[in-house]
Amino acid sequence: MSVPASIQKLDQLPPEMLEFTLLKKTGALAPRLGRLSLPRRKSILTPGFIGNTSRGVIPHVSQDNFRKSVELGGVYIALEDFVEKHPQKTPPIFKYEVPEPLRKFIALPEETLLVLGARRNPPIPSPVANTNTQIGLLTSVGFTTISSDYYAAAARKLQPDVVVGLADIPFGQAAVGLKRKDKMSDRTETWLRDLIVKQGTMDDAEKGWSIFAPILPIDRHLQSWYLEHLLDDMVDKIDGVAIYDAYLLHELPEQLHHLPRLSFHAPASPQELLRQISLGMDLFTVPFINDATDAGVALDFNFPAPVKHHASSTRRSLGIDMWSDDHALSVTPLSHNCTCYACTKHHRAFVQHLLGAKEMLGWVLIQLHNHAIICAFFAGVRASIEVGTFDTDVAAFEAYYEPDLPEKTGQGPRVRGYQFKSEAHAKKGKKNPKAFNKFGGEDLVKLKAAHGQQPNKKPATRDVIDDEALLGLVGMEEHGINADAAVQMDKLNLEDDERR
Ligand SMILES: [Zn+2]
Repeated sequence: MSVPASIQKLDQLPPEMLEFTLLKKTGALAPRLGRLSLPRRKSILTPGFIGNTSRGVIPHVSQDNFRKSVELGGVYIALEDFVEKHPQKTPPIFKYEVPEPLRKFIALPEETLLVLGARRNPPIPSPVANTNTQIGLLTSVGFTTISSDYYAAAARKLQPDVVVGLADIPFGQAAVGLKRKDKMSDRTETWLRDLIVKQGTMDDAEKGWSIFAPILPIDRHLQSWYLEHLLDDMVDKIDGVAIYDAYLLHELPEQLHHLPRLSFHAPASPQELLRQISLGMDLFTVPFINDATDAGVALDFNFPAPVKHHASSTRRSLGIDMWSDDHALSVTPLSHNCTCYACTKHHRAFVQHLLGAKEMLGWVLIQLHNHAIICAFFAGVRASIEVGTFDTDVAAFEAYYEPDLPEKTGQGPRVRGYQFKSEAHAKKGKKNPKAFNKFGGEDLVKLKAAHGQQPNKKPATRDVIDDEALLGLVGMEEHGINADAAVQMDKLNLEDDERR
């Protein structure tokens, strides 16, 4: 008896379903333990975190170091990092004709879970407003928009493991009007439906992906249109939720409680991570790891916090400023008891020297270390939830450590594109100090003479091509990333409202 071809095909394919198992749950708004698994990928224990990438890499972590020295089950990737501003040009990644183009393009291991979203976390507010069909984003060469169709098509082409649905959120706007919130709900509903439709049209031979539905950072009754449709006819098509406001978790409909929760509510400190975990958040990208690394700060904390031996009123710092001369002769590891590559192979004096010499390896070592600290932090959190001491451990942590990460004192690596944040453009002056300066007139004459040239024989050429020109940041100015940005943004949004 012959088996129909379609069934045969299904039999051969391994089940590609993303599975989330709740291992421990103590209440509706309480910390919980879970395991996120997908065939052929590393399981991720939750609460846990995935790497936050910039243009396909975790900053400072090359692909070989990712394999050797970072224990991460997954990464978050923003599509905006791969979009070209001018639609007539097809981004190279879309021309890559291989299975799993995104994974091959960024050269991450087979077992790494890839989560694709439209925007980075946290996103830079786009002065190009979202419309009913398009979302504004920041490409490597300036702001632009992509349509919901484009996003769905990109997901199909790139074949990540998880795709986060588009959310209509006017980032950077302090006050969002009721009418606008209504629209957020409408558009997010439509855009999620577009993605589900696209998923439904894929044939069995294509690699599927799971969908995480965004939950908007507005009150439940204001997104009721979206949530009702999500629960009525989309809930069986989604495998997780992406939460933009952790403090609205108590409003999450009960029918979605079994799903993994990915936080897009960027925490500023480990204490804020703990607060979100205590409300039942599962999965994070932790943007402050990279901020600390760029600032030359080696994170230095444990969960649970060590026991205080003597009653002192001063709290321990959450990180060590590696720029400080205090480390110039220190041959101790960045953190005691840390087993990361940086701590087992090098010492503070070396790292301090590397930063002072602007040697890239300095940030590489700090980044590897900071990821190891957060890995250990989450392992500690899970163990604490397991034995039921989470609440007291959090209180002890808050009493032991300072509430904020240390301020940046030294210079970071050269900043580019995404690191500027829109506000920074309002400031006058150079973002990066000049690495090379022009010779003075006299020196130049001497130099030219040494090369057998007469002064003024050749037209002047530029001796420095600034990164900014290469990155096309000039193009960004069109959309007003300057002091007027805020004003223009308001204008755009007003027009947007009128189009309704
Ligand atoms: Zn370390």
